[in-house]
Amino acid sequence: MKILEDRIRRDGRVRDGGVLKVDGFLNHQMDIALFSDMGKEFYRIFGDRRVNKILTIEASGIGIACLTAQQFGCPVVFAKKTQTKNISGEVYTTSVRSFTHDRVYDIIVSKEFLTPADRVLIIDDFLANGCALMGLVRLVRDAGAQLVGAGIAVEKAFQPGGELIRGMGVEVASLARIKAMDPVRGVEFC
Ligand code: 5GP
Repeated sequence: MKILEDRIRRDGRVRDGGVLKVDGFLNHQMDIALFSDMGKEFYRIFGDRRVNKILTIEASGIGIACLTAQQFGCPVVFAKKTQTKNISGEVYTTSVRSFTHDRVYDIIVSKEFLTPADRVLIIDDFLANGCALMGLVRLVRDAGAQLVGAGIAVEKAFQPGGELIRGMGVEVASLARIKAMDPVRGVEFC
């Protein structure tokens, strides 16, 4: 998606350690007009699949998920990050390793909001090693819901997540795919 790639070239900052900072328009301050265009693009790709629920993970996925859900006319459910495993039996839960914070946390979704009747599109901001997306896929499968696919804003294609999750048979659509990046030369797209 050219406008997203252009924006990353203009306002993205590549940090040491393989992290792309996009705080000016995606991760901290949010450009809602851009999110709206991304939502339309996800609808163009997945709009005929009878999606009735968007699933994302707090916090950075929520904004993009909301503007996408507006296109689909459906609700957003976001997986909550929690320190302690909720064993009440009223939630689906799984563990996720954080790429940016280098730690493990649990994510939960209430059984009330993810059911076998749901046709789910997962939306997230980044796909890197695939841990976050894999966690969301597990929640959908645990719920017995139908996974339609995953829409990602920025895929770091030089990390293994994309290949891993496509290899599981999940349709992944990424709006910007980064082939390589470093702090001096910046970002190169696929
Ligand atoms: P994964 O679990 O695929 O390794 O990483 C996905 C999550 O880590 C995303 O939800 C995102 O929050 C964060 N993330 C991974 N790589 C980057 C990056 O280069 N920049 C930013 N801002 N976040 C990232």
